[in-house]
Amino acid sequence: MGMLQKQLAKSGIEVREEQVIRLQEYMRLVLQRNESVNLTSITDEEEFIQKHYIDSLSCARRPEFQTAKRIIDVGTGAGFPGVPLAICFPDKEFTLIDSLRKRTRIVEEFCGQLQIGNVRVMHGRAEELARQDLREQFDLCVSRAVANLSTLCELCLPFVRKGGWFISYKGPSGEEEAIRAERAIGLLGGKMQEIDREEGMSGHQLIIIKKTSLTNQKYPRRPGLPGKEPL
Ligand code: SAM
Repeated sequence: MGMLQKQLAKSGIEVREEQVIRLQEYMRLVLQRNESVNLTSITDEEEFIQKHYIDSLSCARRPEFQTAKRIIDVGTGAGFPGVPLAICFPDKEFTLIDSLRKRTRIVEEFCGQLQIGNVRVMHGRAEELARQDLREQFDLCVSRAVANLSTLCELCLPFVRKGGWFISYKGPSGEEEAIRAERAIGLLGGKMQEIDREEGMSGHQLIIIKKTSLTNQKYPRRPGLPGKEPL
């Protein structure tokens, strides 16, 4: 058994051989392209597996993920957490968005090359895409390393259908951010549900927010404002 499969098994994640091959190949493509385009600061394979794969897949333990069919990853960058989740859960549909065209092109190219059929990649700012067809269309939104939680809720909650969920991957500041974001969450139609701090090797805790009512049409505000003046 290769290093990747061993690490996944240690974290309780079971994957089939063909999925391991895709994960391995995706890592190879990212690290290779990283030599000419800035995709990740991680260049060591073992660290890549921990910080990009095990961490991305940590939300698979959550019931909100297990029951979701349509999932959006906001600010996916080089495809995290969206791509590893899509590879390991081929029955779910993933939409990956990012405001940097160079990155969305590359993620799209790699997903095409590896025939990952359950991924759609879209270029654009969340503030704009959430005002179009994608609004309130998803059972679950996931996001990692994009903004502080108040800002992030304004970027993410508009995509979630009423009754759906937002899972934010956060470091040690998560708890404090959650307290500060309470007002924003309420204004956007959400409700703080839980902080899942299960100690894994991944380092991130998961902030679980439920969408309890539709988001007021005035949100998200114009591009840049959620970051500049968090609710
Ligand atoms: N989620 C990835 C990860 O964890 O490796 C990438 C994190 S990277 C630090 C943040 C990404 O969010 C960047 O690729 C950036 O272009 C994207 N981003 C920032 N603000 C955004 C917005 N308003 N709408 C869409 N993407 C955004």
